[in-house]
Amino acid sequence: MCECSKVHLFEVEFKLEGMTVVPTHKNCGFALDEKQADKFQKELVKSWGFEEEED
Ligand SMILES: [Zn+2]
Repeated sequence: MCECSKVHLFEVEFKLEGMTVVPTHKNCGFALDEKQADKFQKELVKSWGFEEEED
């Protein structure tokens, strides 16, 4: 599990494991924890130009 204090989106690689995407920190090679993963998935979606829809 990645324990780096600062991780930037451009350092994150989204690896496909089976049917799930695992955000992995390129610098250390470890998968991000759930909280970080969630954050970066949101940032990734934003970088694609989509905003999350809210009910
Ligand atoms: Zn790391």
